[in-house]
Amino acid sequence: ATPVSIMVGTGRAAERGVLFRQGAALQALQEARVIALDKTGTLTEGRPRLVDFLPAPGFSRDEALALAGAVEARSEHPIARAVTEAARAETGALPEVSAFEAMPGHGVTARVGGRAAALGSRRQMERLGVDVAPLAAEAERLAGEGKSPVYLALDGRLGALLAVADPIKPEAREAVAALRARGLTVAMLTGDADATAQVVARSLGIEEVRAELLPEGKVEALGSLRAAHGPVAFVGDGINDAPALAQADVGIAIGTGTDVAVESADVVLMSGALTGLVEAVALSRATMANIR
Ligand code: ADP
Ligand code: MG
Repeated sequence: ATPVSIMVGTGRAAERGVLFRQGAALQALQEARVIALDKTGTLTEGRPRLVDFLPAPGFSRDEALALAGAVEARSEHPIARAVTEAARAETGALPEVSAFEAMPGHGVTARVGGRAAALGSRRQMERLGVDVAPLAAEAERLAGEGKSPVYLALDGRLGALLAVADPIKPEAREAVAALRARGLTVAMLTGDADATAQVVARSLGIEEVRAELLPEGKVEALGSLRAAHGPVAFVGDGINDAPALAQADVGIAIGTGTDVAVESADVVLMSGALTGLVEAVALSRATMANIR
């Protein structure tokens, strides 16, 4: 690979809003056989809205929503923004929060309104010993509609089931089709619930799906995709994606995502649009073809 053609290639990419942080990434992307993508914020807008809120028996909707919104006001997660916005709109001022802790890929815990509160996935609730059985069937139903279910626990008991819906990026389906047309295997790696992930993947034409993954689970999934198909590029936006971005043969960050993701990546899609991903692949192939 001549330095000049790499400079030309990375320069062209930059004009299109694709930042190659080193020339080596151009070659690595050309060699990739798999494009694995995070779901939330990568294939979807990452601007979910709260669409369902079901209090558990014994809890009032307004109280539970205010507590959930207050805790989530401290979190950077897109789900958190959706919950806080809804709580502010419906319940007004939010109570004070202390002892806030975030567990990437799981959820959050804090003290609020004199109670111990936790929000997160079913796994988060299992970890905390909270029985989700009273609302588990409802959660499955909502996930089957492509919504992401999130549980709220208050003082160790199930307080509510929330669901957020996050629109798929308008260009995502076409981008997946374009990558597949170039012979690439396209996979989705997500921390979200399996049923939700399956519905979203099906609507995008993605066949390989691994769901309910922790940040290290995404790294492991990259390893198994690599063993099955060859070098893997991973595209992600979140704090939870940083380990996978660093471990992938090529890490590609959504430029509008978190700073940690951008810093862990080899390539940055500045606008966040997935058309940039297709252009990056095309450019990497064109540049390397010129060199040979
Ligand atoms: P993704 O891979 O889809 O971007 P994450 O790894 O960020 O998902 O999160 C995985 C799951 O953990 C979410 O679907 C949600 O159930 C839970 N979770 C993470 N952070 C939060 C939070 N701040 N509030 C509620 N749930 C959360
Ligand atoms: Mg994400």
